[in-house]
Amino acid sequence: MKIPKFLIERYQFWKKNTFEDYKDKYQQACKTQQKPIAMIITCCDSRILENTIFGGNVGDYFIHRNIANIVPSKNNKDQNIQTLSAIEYALKVLKIPNLIILGHSNCGGVEYSYKTLLDSKNINDFEYINQWISCLQNSYKNIPDDLQETEKITFFEQENIKQSIKNLREYSFIDKLIKENKLNIVGLWYQISSGLIKFLDNNNSFIDLD
Ligand SMILES: [Zn+2]
Repeated sequence: MKIPKFLIERYQFWKKNTFEDYKDKYQQACKTQQKPIAMIITCCDSRILENTIFGGNVGDYFIHRNIANIVPSKNNKDQNIQTLSAIEYALKVLKIPNLIILGHSNCGGVEYSYKTLLDSKNINDFEYINQWISCLQNSYKNIPDDLQETEKITFFEQENIKQSIKNLREYSFIDKLIKENKLNIVGLWYQISSGLIKFLDNNNSFIDLD
């Protein structure tokens, strides 16, 4: 095993600078259990810097990432264990009051799913991904026919956020927290190139956050 040079250099820079500046916060954060203000479920995509976007400090955000920021349905027994384990810990143990689903533009997972559902010839022989993105099939069915392809993919990305939120409510412990007003669910879609964030309003439409 070889430690890449960039890792050593960036770590050393962080330790000497950023860590030094926030040392007290790190030490304080270890004296008690973590108490994040929100859980964020987002995509593995390297272009999403959720802590930067939302000014995250030590202990602020409990993050779960997966391909295409999916919360699988309760019926998807083979797919839901990892994401639901993270959610269960966040809600039952840490009692986090906000759960954010942060989807995004240019999502490779959503685009791949779109292409495979459009034409099965586009299915690659992935060992795991095909099963995982099968969670997106429901959202795909809602894409209107009269859109350009790029608009269809954007719609699909946003529909996937709505579906994930619907799926959350299938789990009784989550639904109960929502009904008791102990948990606020937020749907966000982030456009990487412009920095624009849209949020899902009470009418189930995506509206600019600015
Ligand atoms: Zn993505």
